[in-house]
This record gives sequence, C-alpha cells and structure tokens, in this order.
Amino acid sequence: MSRLSNTALKSTLSALHYSGLGALFAPWTRGVGAILMLHQVNPQPVAAFEPNRILRVTPDFLGAAIRHCLELGYDFVSMDELRARLLDPVPGRRYLSVTLDDAYRDNLTYAVPIFRRYGVPFTIYAPVDYLDGGGELWWLAFERVLAIQTSIDLDVGGRKFSKPLRTTREKDAAFHNIYWHLRTIDEVDARRIVRELCDRNAIDLGAQCKSLVMSWDEIRDIAADPLATIGAHTCRHVAMAHLTTDDARTELTRSIARIEQELGKPCRHFSYPYGDSLAAGPRDFDIAREVGVATAVTTRKGLIHQHHASSLTSLPRLSMNGDYQQARYLKVLLDGAPFSALGITSRLKSRLALTTPTARP
Ligand SMILES: [Zn+2]
Repeated sequence: MSRLSNTALKSTLSALHYSGLGALFAPWTRGVGAILMLHQVNPQPVAAFEPNRILRVTPDFLGAAIRHCLELGYDFVSMDELRARLLDPVPGRRYLSVTLDDAYRDNLTYAVPIFRRYGVPFTIYAPVDYLDGGGELWWLAFERVLAIQTSIDLDVGGRKFSKPLRTTREKDAAFHNIYWHLRTIDEVDARRIVRELCDRNAIDLGAQCKSLVMSWDEIRDIAADPLATIGAHTCRHVAMAHLTTDDARTELTRSIARIEQELGKPCRHFSYPYGDSLAAGPRDFDIAREVGVATAVTTRKGLIHQHHASSLTSLPRLSMNGDYQQARYLKVLLDGAPFSALGITSRLKSRLALTTPTARP
C-alpha cells in the first residue's frame, strides 16, 4: 500500500471517528466481533525504508489496544471459544480473538507478557519447518537486499525489472512492484530468486530464521500456558493455492501432525500463509474442512459476523497494521463501516477487474 493511499485511508478513518458516523452505523456493520491479526511485536524504531513495517506493532500499542477493547466491552476469547460462540451464539456479547502468524521470537519476549497481564487468550500459527531453523523469511530478506543496494536488475518469471534504488521512494516502489510479481509466480522459483539475491549480498537466510523465529522449546513453553493456542501455518510457509491438491493437503496435515507430536496435544486451528485470494481459495478451504480443522483464518479483511458459522475454514481477520497504531483507527475498524465500504468498493473493482492485493505474509 502506498504512502499516499495510507494517508487517504487514515483521513477516512479519522473522519469516521470524529464525525461519529462509524459509531452511527456500527449496529448494522460491526457483527459479533473480530479476529485480530499480528505478526511481529517489538519496540524497534521503524527504519526510513521498511515496507514490512506493516507487519510490526509496538508492545505499547498492543497494550493500549487491549485496554481500549476491554473498555469498549469486548470479551477476549480463544479460537476454540470463538468457534463455540459462532455455533452457539451468546446474545449481547461481542468478542475478539488475538492471533499471531509466523511464530516470531519477539512474540514470546514482548507480546506474551502483555497477554498474561490482561488475561487475554491468544493463538500463534507456526510454520513448522521454521521452528526447525530451516525457514526462509524471504519477504524480510528481500527488503534487506533493497536496503543495501543502489539499483536492481532482476528477471522474475520472464519479466525484467531494472530499478534504481537510490532513495527511499525508489526502494519502496521497487519493493512493492517486485514483491507482488514474486507472489504471482511459482513459489519455488520466487524463493530461488530471493535466495540468489541473498547469496550475492551476504545475507544468511538460515541465520535470519534462527534469530527471528522461535524454537520448539520456546513454543512448548508458551503452549503450556492455558491462555495459549498453537495453530499450524503449513510446513514451508507456502501459498497453498499454488500447489496441487495433494501437496496442499500434505502441507496442512503434516504441519498439524508435527505440532501435535511436538506439543503432545491436539492442534485444531490453521492459518493460510499469505492468506489472500492469491494464496488460498475455495479448494483450500474445502481441504481444511475435510481434514477436520476446527477453524482456519485468512488475511482477507473483515469482521466476524454470525454467518461465518457456516464458513469456519475461511475466516477473515482485522490486521493490527504497523501503519495504523492508533486506538481510534481500531475503534472505527471494529465498528465495521470501513469494511462495508470496502466490500462495496471491491465488488465494484472486481466487476471492473481492478482488484489490487494488499495482504501480506
Ligand atoms: Zn505467515
């Protein structure tokens, strides 16, 4: 998402907040609650060039957001409880479930103590190969390559990219342009391209994974907490929609089986890597249902409504986006008016074939 459209969206959210219009429409738009989506949680300052900043919030914001939601009267529930309430509604209660993708180590350091302080249940979705230290956080590594370089010449699936990288603006433009093209090609090829870039720039993907992602021992420590649910996020953190049906099913079932084996308890919840319409579709939602997953979450934007009781393996989420770390934005988003507007806009866009993907890992 560009800085310009960020500014426009922030203005819209602020206008909905200060005008009271968001709250006015809330009884029709806010549904029964939301599944909040987080990735990294740490206090590190944001760099001038850091497109992945949208995947990172500060511990201060997380704490403030939880307090704000408690003041608004929301119940914080586990994914098991969210499912139970969808299947057997609790009249008059609205609820939130907190989820974190990718099992970043900073979740343990910064987020879990906040969840414990407020008694907030949470779910961490782990890509199991990453817990073995063999994962590729290629979206972060690609950002690092562009931060280092002053230009880039790249062939991505036959399309040539030749971009200057002298300024932050040029680096941002190149990142968004090339990132989204990498997401459309075969993921094995995309990762090979990024791996070769890393090799040329002395970036060690294995060391980066071991440094940023938790080990099995750390996940086991968290899993012992009654507030914690550990869900699966495939083995290799791959876009299931790009795989054959057999391979997609294997990614799902093997990741669940590995978590159950390592933790000694059932694993009932799943998150689709990347989670947007490029990465997971109706076939994958069917696979998750067929193998008996209790819930599966996407990165598609939206609140939880009662009708989601019949689509428990394709649940939308509300991203706690690093660019929107203000309680008033969260309040307006939870009131739901922006999603209703977004739904109308995306229906119009899809009719005009203008849909632009904005979700991330
Ligand atoms: Zn992920």
